[in-house]
Order: sequence, then C-alpha cells, then structure tokens
Amino acid sequence: MDLMEFQAKELFAKHGVKTTLGVVVTTPEEARDAAERIGPCVVKAQVKAGGRGKAGGVKLAKTPEEAFEHAGNILGMEIKGLRVNRVLVTPATPPVEEYYFSFLLDRANRQYLCIASVEGGVEIEEVAKTNPDAVKQIPVDPGTGVDADKARAIVAEAAFPAELADQAVAMVQALWAVFVEEDATLVEVNPLARLEGDVLEALDGKVSLDANAEFRHADRAAFEVTEETDPLEAEAKAKGLNYVKLDGQVGIIGNGAGLVMSTLDVVAYAGERHGGVKPANFLDIGGGANAQVMADGLDVILGDQQVKAVFVNVFGGITSCDEVANGIKGALEILGDQATKPLVVRLDGNNVEKGRAILDELNHPLVTQVDTMDGAADKAAELAGA
Ligand code: GDP
Ligand code: MN
Repeated sequence: MDLMEFQAKELFAKHGVKTTLGVVVTTPEEARDAAERIGPCVVKAQVKAGGRGKAGGVKLAKTPEEAFEHAGNILGMEIKGLRVNRVLVTPATPPVEEYYFSFLLDRANRQYLCIASVEGGVEIEEVAKTNPDAVKQIPVDPGTGVDADKARAIVAEAAFPAELADQAVAMVQALWAVFVEEDATLVEVNPLARLEGDVLEALDGKVSLDANAEFRHADRAAFEVTEETDPLEAEAKAKGLNYVKLDGQVGIIGNGAGLVMSTLDVVAYAGERHGGVKPANFLDIGGGANAQVMADGLDVILGDQQVKAVFVNVFGGITSCDEVANGIKGALEILGDQATKPLVVRLDGNNVEKGRAILDELNHPLVTQVDTMDGAADKAAELAGA
C-alpha cells in the first residue's frame, strides 16, 4: 500500500524523523483558516504520485488569502490521472539545500538498498542520468541492518555537509526504524532539506507498506483512502477488467499477467528509440478474449487522453488466435467511430495462421499486424511517438 505524504509524515513523526505535520484540509476555506494559524505556508496536493511540484500541485502562500486561492486551484486538479481531494498546509520553511534519501527493498540482490544524494529536490531518476556519480547506492545487509556505525558510513558516503552529519546520522537511523518497524518496502525523502539555521528536515515523504505484513499492523486500515481511485480504473473495475493506469502513451492489451508485464518492459525499452514513449497501462484480458471483453478493454484504454497507439499482444493458448482476431474484429464493430487510434496486433500461438488471416481479410485502416513481440512493440512505440 502506498501512502500519501501526510500519512508518511505521521509515520516519520512516530519514529522520530524530524518533519512538520501541518494540517490536511479539503476546502479552500479550511486552507485559509489553517494559514491564519500557521502563517506563510506551502499548500501541497495529496495524491499518490510524484512530480506534484512540477504539475503545479505545490504552491507557496504568503497570506491566508493566497492559501485560499492556491487550495482552490489545486483541489480538483488531476495529477498523473489522480484527482486531488485534499491538500496539506504546512509552514513555509524555505530549503537552503535539498537532498535525496531512501531505503528500499532490492529484490534482485536479496538485500536492502539505501540511495542517497546531496542533489535532491528534483526527480532522482534525472540526477542519476545526468550526474550518476552524485547518486550513491549503498547496500544494507538485512541481517545487520542500520546501526549507528552503518548510519555514519552512509552519511559519509553520501557526503552530507560535515556540520549536518550528526543530524543526518540520527535521521538515517530514524528512517531505518520506519522502514523496519512499519514493514515498508520503500521509505523516501525528497527533499530532505537543509533549512536556515542548519536544521535537517523531511519536507516530503513517500512510504510503501508491505501488504503481506498487514496482519502485524492493526492501525493500517486508517491509511486506506478509497475515493482516490483513478476514474479509468474505476470504469475498468466496473467492467470486470484487470487494469492499472500508468503514465505513458502506448495502450497495452495482453492475455496473462506475465505476458502483459513483459510487454510493458519491451514497450518501455522500444519507447526509448521513439522520443521516450512509455506504456499507458497494464491490462490483462485473461482467457476470455471475446469481442465484448476486447471492446471493453479498448474502450477503457481509448478513454485515456494520453494514449496515442494501442498494442494488442496475444499468445494463443486455450483461447486461440482466431477467437482473439474475431474479438478484435467484433470490438472494432462495437466501437465504430469511437475507435480512433492505431492498433498494433501481434498474434502467436494456437491457430496463429487463422487469426492473422482474419485480420488480413478485415484490412482495417487502424490495424497493423506485426509477427514478433519486439517488432510490434517498436511499431506501437513509433506510432505513439509520432
Ligand atoms: P513532489 O514534486 O511531488 O516530489 O513534491 P515535493 O513535496 O517534493 O515538493 C516539490 C518542491 O516544493 C520541493 O522540492 C521543494 O523545493 C518545495 N517544497 C516542498 N515542500 C515544501 C515545504 O514544506 N516548504 C517549502 N518552502 N518548500 C517546499
Ligand atoms: Mn518530492
């Protein structure tokens, strides 16, 4: 379960990470009231997505009136497809410097990983690309964890300023306590800010909790925020589809979770050659690839304004390729004029020749067939990037 910033900060405070909780509100009036008590403040969108700053979801308010105005603009805004239903009003403590810090689970290497950088504030992925030496990756042995010595070693490797070292060591240990005691898979602070007077404070917080450990934490239900679901995900759920919205341009339909997952990877990889396009969603239509399921899936995907092309990747098994091809044909008939974006179809497996023949015969202007998964991913990325 991913937490919102204000929830992450509650856990931070519980374990002694220096942070300021602020006030969570749902109306501009409440934001103004909060600002009257707090003074100059920052109004911050509370959604489970990064990049809120860039999207205009983090604004400085010098007066209660400004807080009212900013809250009015931010509430109802959509950030990465998520509607903002609440904002956090927190004292405006201007950062002098912004750092990055996180603990996460490193499954591939069966250990934990600490990532730290004195160049925080912006997206860490960007820093990792433009200045990889500035991003330190420090393995953490799950057996020994982070004691005072390890925390000091992390702070030294990350090269936090000497005058902040003691505070940073305490912060690292407290963040480790959040990570372990709350059964988190990610604890991230960006920015970890140096404030005036050389005070180190977590100005933002991102925490993912391990759902498998829920039974150990009776208090977790309070973190559930149900109304936050993306509208497309809600529509998909109502149609019984296994759909997750992502932030890209290539719509994906496949059969089987494993195939869909690897389709996301090949599309992301191919996308790098076509202006950095990315997969727009996860959608597993499972075994029942009939016309209605295909039409429902396409309908949801085409409802995503960001989508520029759709990749249908099917490996025929129990549901054979000719059934899927007929499903696509039927879906295009059901959708009619609503089908507006190019479809790249890759069929393989059971009855592949029949399936391909059905689509060849259909000769639909929006449909392109490509025989290989990599080739089809490249074509879909190309169409989405154009
Ligand atoms: P994100 O863009 O979703 O990661 O949201 P952040 O909470 O990191 O906010 C983006 C930027 O706004 C930060 O890098 C800071 O420069 C600034 N910011 C965020 N929180 C505060 C705050 O409490 N006080 C001040 N003065 N600036 C903040
Ligand atoms: Mn941030």
